[in-house]
Amino acid sequence: MQRVLIVGAGFSGAVIARALAEAGVAVTVADARPHVAGNCHTERCPDTGVMVHVYGPHIFHTDNEGVWAYVNRFGAFRPYVNRVKATVGGRVFALPVNLHTINQIFGTAMRPDEARAFIAARAQAPAHGGEPANFEEQALAMVGPEIYAAFFKGYTAKQWGCDPRELPASILKRLPLRFNYDDNYFFHRFQGMPEAGYTALVAAILDCPGVTLRLGSPVTPGDARAGGWDHVVWTGPLDAWFGHDLGRLGYRTLAFERFTHDGDWQGCAVMNHPDPDVPYTRIAEHRHFAPWETPRGSVVVREYARACGPDDIPYYPIRLAGEQALLRRYVARARAEARVSFVGRLGTYRYLDMDVTINEALKAAQSLILARKTGAPPPAFPVDPL
Ligand code: UDP
Repeated sequence: MQRVLIVGAGFSGAVIARALAEAGVAVTVADARPHVAGNCHTERCPDTGVMVHVYGPHIFHTDNEGVWAYVNRFGAFRPYVNRVKATVGGRVFALPVNLHTINQIFGTAMRPDEARAFIAARAQAPAHGGEPANFEEQALAMVGPEIYAAFFKGYTAKQWGCDPRELPASILKRLPLRFNYDDNYFFHRFQGMPEAGYTALVAAILDCPGVTLRLGSPVTPGDARAGGWDHVVWTGPLDAWFGHDLGRLGYRTLAFERFTHDGDWQGCAVMNHPDPDVPYTRIAEHRHFAPWETPRGSVVVREYARACGPDDIPYYPIRLAGEQALLRRYVARARAEARVSFVGRLGTYRYLDMDVTINEALKAAQSLILARKTGAPPPAFPVDPL
């Protein structure tokens, strides 16, 4: 394995490229877009000077010290804590659901133990007597009907485009429920924002002898197969490698409605809008993602979720039962491919946070380097997608 093509210059592609190049492999990284960093791409708005997260907000958080040390090698991080608010029925609440939210919605001043008992009394176990089998049952068992209706039901229906009863309980497990006033959205020990933006961070990872970068350079599976590469790392959609010939793996995509404003539009970075009659899910005001900067104005973005068509950018893998069955068929075919590895959010069709993506990419690179040493065929999936 002397010449490797990596398709995609997001975190997965960049991290693997650097590790392979450092191990003496000549790596070419190609991306169809004119920039690196994939959907983490940030760029400055020329009118306001605001650093904009072009494909939606990204907040770096991790419990993995190795990953935290890794990203800090390539750029300075500024302290940043994700604190999200929600507007429901014309009132503003604290998220994630914490003691403040509970006291706000019920008009109470309960202490932690009182609130815990109060919510436990409202929580509704599934009528079937078993474990919660879907998102709605999980939410009702966790927080009861009032909080479910206010914060989860409408938001989730808009985000996923279906009834929350059709969704797995696991989606809700991403969200904390706290009986104190901690409104930090994440549990992780390390949290921050790259001072110069994500694009500069990924560019620094790719800035390594042995890495050739080709931007604005779409690579089809046919091109990749015919290129005479010893190995291809594909970070694009798994089904795209096969020309979607078994059908399309479903995603949700996002539409962004962007406008500028002279002052501070909403006073915080992210305001969720769970109400079902509001068409967007949330509003991000990007200057608040870089509170150490003093921009000239503000960039505000309303976010709408919808089904992903063939020409849309895929964001959230849906992974319901139908998609899982199709995924298994594509995975079986991918395992039979020689000289291709599938990695990352799109390559493995999983919803991955940035830190998990980086950790998996580091592991994928190690398995490729090991295969190179031993002469064994590199794995099609360095990380199991199922
Ligand atoms: N969610 C919700 N209300 C909120 C925020 C989240 O119902 O105000 C649900 C929604 O189904 C979402 C899931 O919880 O898809 C996970 O939320 P998270 O904030 O992790 O979503 P992300 O930031 O990844 O879009």
